[in-house]
Amino acid sequence: MLQTVCILGATGSIGESTLKVLAEHPDQYSVFAVTANSRIEKLIEICKQFNPKIAVVPSVHVDRFAQLLKQHQLQHIEILADEAGLLAVAAHPDVDIVMAAIVGAAGLLPTLAAVKAGKRILLANKEALVMSGEIMLQAAKQHNALLLPVDSEHNAIFQCLPQNYLQLETNNQPQLGVSKILLTASGGPFLNFSLDQLQTVTPAQACKHPNWSMGRKISVDSATLMNKGLELIEACHLFSISEHFVTVVVHPQSIIHSMVQYVDGSTLAQMGNPDMCTPIAHALAWPKRISTSVPALDLFLNQQLNFQEPDIQRFPALALARQAMRIGGTSPAILNAANEIAVAAFLEEKISFTAIPEVVEFTINKITPNNAESLDVILHADHLARDVARQRVEQLIGGQ
Ligand code: NDP
Ligand code: MG
Repeated sequence: MLQTVCILGATGSIGESTLKVLAEHPDQYSVFAVTANSRIEKLIEICKQFNPKIAVVPSVHVDRFAQLLKQHQLQHIEILADEAGLLAVAAHPDVDIVMAAIVGAAGLLPTLAAVKAGKRILLANKEALVMSGEIMLQAAKQHNALLLPVDSEHNAIFQCLPQNYLQLETNNQPQLGVSKILLTASGGPFLNFSLDQLQTVTPAQACKHPNWSMGRKISVDSATLMNKGLELIEACHLFSISEHFVTVVVHPQSIIHSMVQYVDGSTLAQMGNPDMCTPIAHALAWPKRISTSVPALDLFLNQQLNFQEPDIQRFPALALARQAMRIGGTSPAILNAANEIAVAAFLEEKISFTAIPEVVEFTINKITPNNAESLDVILHADHLARDVARQRVEQLIGGQ
């Protein structure tokens, strides 16, 4: 039986890797729905190749998209629009698997819709989990959804954990002999830059990651180490452990994608060439395995595996994220929202690279976090944090 896949964020970097894996297994998977935000021409190319049943675009693009579909004799593809369209395809009764690969907070409600519809969810959109944490995990339990990590580190940890670890009751302690999670970080393109050098780096430099090819937002997050901070929070939620059981290890080669330590002295690592097709294929087929075009690791070509501690003086975003996780409640949502605003301002060349953690810290210090007891409370914190972060960005632009 073919399994049907809905790709939220099909035009992005993860979307592209997902389609690449699916194209290699047409006998097992079919693309049911795809979504885009701005790259409409790219979505047409995807529709030509995969012929989905439904495509979702923002309403401002619907007319042009419909015209383009007609031009390519694809008018049988149903068009849905905006958030309502995203929610509809994420929870569609004919969908088996949802790839959650929209970037940022925009992915939260569609991902939750898939969770509440009890789907197998391939979770790339870490911001959604960082924001909603317990609420998303509880909903997954309640609705029998399978939340599988696609983020390469979390997928690696999942592979190194005992079977069924994700199904355990949550208690914030490592269980089944696990003692620690070692979350690896490449260190990003500025690993060896001084604080002075960091002041003047450009968006183009920040988006040129040494090992991974990714969307612009996550590339900047990798460069500030906020990505690792978000991943620390993601790991605490996914694997139900307190933040002090997660150690961040800088490993510039990105060959080991993370590790799990056990009480008997064992350390298990998952290794592979840095290509998102591997974790995507793993999450798609789990507990089975399917092939990808990623070449097997040649250890004779990669003779060096280096490790070092992260430097939180030069990369304070990591410490801010750890602090947000420790505080809990709406703190991670506030951190995430402020970061999204700051990264967008940096990408638009309005603020410097080093101003990104500054805006985040300012916002966290300005807002008192609440218990994240409902989605409304979380979304309210998100909106408030965006307002505060925007004000701080304006002040910085004005030289204050
Ligand atoms: P991209 O920027 O390449 O893609 C983002 C996708 O989301 C695009 O399809 C984009 O549409 C869509 N999108 C953006 N804004 C909105 C919106 N407001 N409403 C609906 N759709 C929207 O990002 P990545 O693929 O790199 O990352 C996606 C997610 O996966 C992120 O959360 C990231 O942290 C995570 N991730 C990515 C990894 C990677 O290697 N790239 C690794 C691990 C996690 P369009 O392009 O049409 O504008
Ligand atoms: Mg990652």
